Amino acid sequence: MLEKRDYDAIIVGSGPNGLAAAILLQQNGLSVLLLEGKETIGGGLRSAELTLPGYIHDICSAVHPLAAASPFFAQLPLDKFGLKYIYPQIAAAHPFDNGTAALLKGSVDETASLLGLDEQAYRKLIGPIVNDWPLIAEDVLAPLHFPKHPVAMARFGLKALTSANYLSKRFKTPGAKAFFAGMAGHSIQPLTNTATSAIALVLLASGHVKGWPIPKGGSSRIADALAAYFISIGGTVETNIYVQSLTQLPSARAVLLDVTPRQVLQIAGHKLSSLYKWQLERYRYGMGVFKVDWALDTPIPFKARDCKQAGTVHIGNSFEEIANSEQQIWNGIHPERPFVLLAQPTIVDPSRAPAGKHTAWAYCHVPNGSKKDMTQAIENQVERFAPGFKDTIVARHTMDTAQMEAHNPNYIGGDINGGAIDIGQLFTRPALRWSPYKTSAKGIYICSSSTPPGGGVHGMCGYHAAKRVLKDVFDR
Ligand SMILES: Cc1cc2nc3c(=O)[nH]c(=O)nc-3n(C[C@H](O)[C@H](O)[C@H](O)COP(=O)(O)OP(=O)(O)OC[C@H]3O[C@@H](n4cnc5c(N)ncnc54)[C@H](O)[C@@H]3O)c2cc1C
Repeated sequence: MLEKRDYDAIIVGSGPNGLAAAILLQQNGLSVLLLEGKETIGGGLRSAELTLPGYIHDICSAVHPLAAASPFFAQLPLDKFGLKYIYPQIAAAHPFDNGTAALLKGSVDETASLLGLDEQAYRKLIGPIVNDWPLIAEDVLAPLHFPKHPVAMARFGLKALTSANYLSKRFKTPGAKAFFAGMAGHSIQPLTNTATSAIALVLLASGHVKGWPIPKGGSSRIADALAAYFISIGGTVETNIYVQSLTQLPSARAVLLDVTPRQVLQIAGHKLSSLYKWQLERYRYGMGVFKVDWALDTPIPFKARDCKQAGTVHIGNSFEEIANSEQQIWNGIHPERPFVLLAQPTIVDPSRAPAGKHTAWAYCHVPNGSKKDMTQAIENQVERFAPGFKDTIVARHTMDTAQMEAHNPNYIGGDINGGAIDIGQLFTRPALRWSPYKTSAKGIYICSSSTPPGGGVHGMCGYHAAKRVLKDVFDR
């Protein structure tokens, strides 16, 4: 039961964006209530003993280049609230069938030097973005607007707006092309789509500038630190309050919804204009995910030695294999050899498993709403690059698209990005409007990853939504 009192602002949903919005509003002296439908806060930032006692698994997000690169999170004293990032020696590895691997390491030079004939091509592509990163990071993680540094932003934009298929032609070797495809695969769409290079460039550049850290103890530590800081500055958090309608809420001058358009229609549909409802009804959700967590007896026995030190491993061998996998899924087909994204946090964070034991996390993309069990396909892919892997499995936990959505109602049909991030919805999510955060109803805003800059743990959707609220509603 909610206490009957008035608030300046109420946030529905405690994912990284809900938490970021709540913090910015509370920092501005407002009284803020943050509501979460589930028992625990965090949305995509939750960790739990999914397999066996003592094995802590990240249920959703695991690796945090975007949290490390977030201009808003960087302003917060999260280390004082228990957050400690650990940086694996190698941020990401991409193994090949011949037993070697491409590696994302600290500097552009270190990474480039492993790409053979493509050493210069990599330097030329990523070097300028890394140099410009301090100028463009804020503009990249923001809604469409006139940038603070237009020349640097144009340099980035000209590359980012191309398809990964096109930009990868700068590389001559199959290895460098595959490495780039693994990064672009995070866009969760066919690599021939416009702007699929954007996420690859952001992940590579932020990897060189800020690294790809994992939080000690589990991803939930990021949410816990954000919530603890929010409470320390006077904010209120209530869990187990699933909001079905705005009528359930205490009175407030602003309500920010950390949910996707389908839920906005359910919660606030009665307040919205017909045009805006029509727009939200046409919002498109993207491909889903099938996820496996393992409790392991030993670290994963990758053939390529360097993969054993990588926090993240992209499994897909060649550009063609990854591109085919993503295209097939987009067409509604489950590939035999899916592109697999794998994280192995215990290689640097032993606190997440009993002494000497390990955990690993992996998922592949699947058609939205897929009911297919992809466990075998995922494990076969890992075994291919790490013979003996299957013998190290002590226990496993799997989640298909329906289980994903049951865990977090924002994952519609298993879509972890709050809606497809193709060119049609990159800048205009969730609807074409002057401010993407503002709904057609006075005082009601959207702050989830269904708004720019989209999916990932960075809190910037919540930050920009809260800035809009401060301006529109509180005249600040
Ligand atoms: C398997 C997987 C792997 C991922 N890996 C990474 C990764 O490694 N790195 C990364 O940066 N990102 C990753 N992500 C993506 C990241 O988790 C999301 O993009 C991010 O959490 C989105 O944040 P959000 O605040 O918009 O929404 P969410 O984190 O989805 O939070 C929304 C919250 O709102 C609550 N809610 C919804 N409806 C209601 C309601 N009606 N009433 C009350 N509460 C409600 C939900 O319970 C949830 O807690 C991953 C996601 C998944 C699923």
